[in-house]
Amino acid sequence: MTASAMVGRGNTEGARLVRAWFAELTQAAEEGRPSVYVFVMGSLAELLRVFDFPIAFPEINSLQTAVRHVAHEYLNQAEDYGYSPDICGYVKADVATQLRGGAHPLGRIPKPGLAVATNACNTYIKWAEIWERMYKIPVFTIDVPGSRAAGLRPQPGDPDFDNDRRYVVGQLRELIRECERLSGRPFDIDRLREHLGHANTMLRGWRRLLELNQARPSVFNALSDGTIYLGVANGLRGTPEGARYFDELVEEMEYKAAQGIGTLTEETSRLVFVGVPCYPIFRRFNELFTSWGGTFVNSTYLWFASGGSNVGYQYDLAHPLESLAEGLLIGVRDAMDSMFFQDTILLDMVDQYHIDGIVYHPIKSCRTVSTGLADTRRALMQRRDIPSLFIESDMMDRRVVSEAQLKNRIDAFFEGLASRRRQAAAG
Ligand code: SF4
Repeated sequence: MTASAMVGRGNTEGARLVRAWFAELTQAAEEGRPSVYVFVMGSLAELLRVFDFPIAFPEINSLQTAVRHVAHEYLNQAEDYGYSPDICGYVKADVATQLRGGAHPLGRIPKPGLAVATNACNTYIKWAEIWERMYKIPVFTIDVPGSRAAGLRPQPGDPDFDNDRRYVVGQLRELIRECERLSGRPFDIDRLREHLGHANTMLRGWRRLLELNQARPSVFNALSDGTIYLGVANGLRGTPEGARYFDELVEEMEYKAAQGIGTLTEETSRLVFVGVPCYPIFRRFNELFTSWGGTFVNSTYLWFASGGSNVGYQYDLAHPLESLAEGLLIGVRDAMDSMFFQDTILLDMVDQYHIDGIVYHPIKSCRTVSTGLADTRRALMQRRDIPSLFIESDMMDRRVVSEAQLKNRIDAFFEGLASRRRQAAAG
């Protein structure tokens, strides 16, 4: 492949891998093989692959219904069934998927035989209880201790951290027993080592990818391209295909950075996105920014929805189980911090990524991420003079997405940025 043919490879290959993953899920559904349902913040895919379970991420299934413009059909069905319009839209799209026997725009989702959740979002726990009631399956919830307060994170070597890690190791041992019982096979620690090795490559790649977007112009758009990369980072975590993908993606982005190839012909404003994307008008939402020369160079979404992969944690293959527990602890804790205490992270990004503005996007149906955004924005504004935009819509529900209103606010924001640039040039 010529160097220039590399450009765009990450997007086409990412889309192909996600389609192949859904084809495998469809095959499992058709053969009546149960899958394990997991969540993006602490999926433990590396461990579950040891038992060859098909792995489904209901959050990703749900957002795909919105990207493919059919979410409203799923939401309406779940609301008719009795779920409130106010709860997490991902839950409702999933309930409708279950009521339809797994029918999904990308194929068919197999029924679960086990659900594994963490405490990273309270909705995870109540959501998994729905499958427990529907299918009478075991639900395994891992309690991952978080930071004690903003910036107060016990570190390895600290007795609090060592206790937290022991606590998580104990829970993983219980989960392994449950997986052995369900799969009828013994746990193989060498297979765990193998999957952790592939995950190490992916985690290293994820961290490097984020660093590479400090380049000017930025080499990928954190909102549009980044969501494709996230799909692979989650769905293929711990696989050789996922590892190869990230090696090649880093190669592509390093080439773009070295050649000065950006995502836009003219990058006028470098932005950070805070919150969950607006999937019902995903492409159009991004265009409202790119048409002004604005691009998202980073986002809190690439942090929490990757389960904290941004820290680039590397598993110690000599101590697989202890290291898996430590990686889970550090990754999920970081994911929670990037939802709840994101102001310090954002301040660091402003300098490292040469940010011109911050876009806050609270949404109706994800309270975990959206609650408190107005307060953290105010706290950040008190510490730093940086323009910000606060726009509300939803990740799933097109009934609360007003494109015209969004456009007005976004246009005014860019006019403000332009006037600020003129003043800076004059002064
Ligand atoms: S983080 Fe938000 S979108 Fe994800 S499950 Fe929790 S409430 Fe739903």
